[in-house]
Amino acid sequence: MTAEDLGADRVPVRDDLADLMPYGAPQVDAPVRLNTNETPQLPSAAWLADVATSMQALELNRYPDRRATALREALAEGFGLPASSVWAANGSNEILLQLFQAYGGPGRRLLLFRPGYSAHPLIARVSGTPVIEHELPDDFVLTVAHATQSAGAEQPDIVCVASPNNPTGIPVALEAVEALHEATPGLVVVDEAYVEFGGDSAVTLLDRLPRLVVVRTFSKALRLAGLRLGYLLGHDWVIEDLRRVRLPYHVDGIKQLAGLKALEHRDELLDHIPVIVAERERVAAALADLGAVTWPSAANFILFRAGIDGLFDQLLARGVLVRDFSTSAGTEGCLRVTIGTRDENDAFLDALAGILKEAA
Ligand code: PMP
Repeated sequence: MTAEDLGADRVPVRDDLADLMPYGAPQVDAPVRLNTNETPQLPSAAWLADVATSMQALELNRYPDRRATALREALAEGFGLPASSVWAANGSNEILLQLFQAYGGPGRRLLLFRPGYSAHPLIARVSGTPVIEHELPDDFVLTVAHATQSAGAEQPDIVCVASPNNPTGIPVALEAVEALHEATPGLVVVDEAYVEFGGDSAVTLLDRLPRLVVVRTFSKALRLAGLRLGYLLGHDWVIEDLRRVRLPYHVDGIKQLAGLKALEHRDELLDHIPVIVAERERVAAALADLGAVTWPSAANFILFRAGIDGLFDQLLARGVLVRDFSTSAGTEGCLRVTIGTRDENDAFLDALAGILKEAA
């Protein structure tokens, strides 16, 4: 669209963003919402009470600690790392943006694998970073051979994988992460938004892989999607470079406090994980019984294909909101369901069983 088409009242957006659709799963007010991989339980009452009390001492007339020192120290301690290896920002999405701004940008290239987290290419685009996408095989497993071949052929400035991957739920083997690192001189980003639910963490490779960074979040297993807090574990030079691109005081004081308190209450905030994992296995088995194709998930969601056209809308009509991947490249016909409470999972399975029965 040209400036003339838009008329005098509007300024044309940057040319390379003109056909970009804003990211986001539809926020539909359905009775059963299993579409954005949140944890169904509220954060603990003890955490909330602690935050409410401690907030009284916050001096919000002052800017917050620009380096989020206490939060980063507490995060670092949990991993046996120095605070200089830890970075925090507003959700892992912001960390990814900062990484792409620092190490990507025009003239550099980011390698992604498809299917993968749909915000990765979008965030890259906003940062002005050209993206190369390689397809995963039908089983969606990134093998060492595939990793070596793709990264070796492309020599990207950055390669980014999610582990467990979204929307497949399949973790990336540590050997494949090592293979990516070996095959390219660039930054290797492992996005571990769901790792607390399963799969091996690449944090154990940090000692040996100098260009590896691991990105984590408080949004999923820690039940704090509404807080918008993510963190990165990596080498000192990365943290120094990220300071070049971050906005001043990017992590606000309330968030620093709430995040610190979440680490103090970590055990109780994470206590739902065994329940979610057990429910995931129950839902996967039930989906298989219903004749759906599923992929083995290590996360808090399951990708499945039930062979019914318009299934997303039919589930929604029965009050169940899932995520539609049926028209996305590589996951044609697939939907992704987040593991919710037992009742929510039953509502999903009942709705699906009803739809399949009607179709038979
Ligand atoms: N990475 C992956 C793989 C995700 O699925 C998500 C959330 N859907 C994010 C990152 C973003 O998480 P955050 O809320 O920390 O920005």
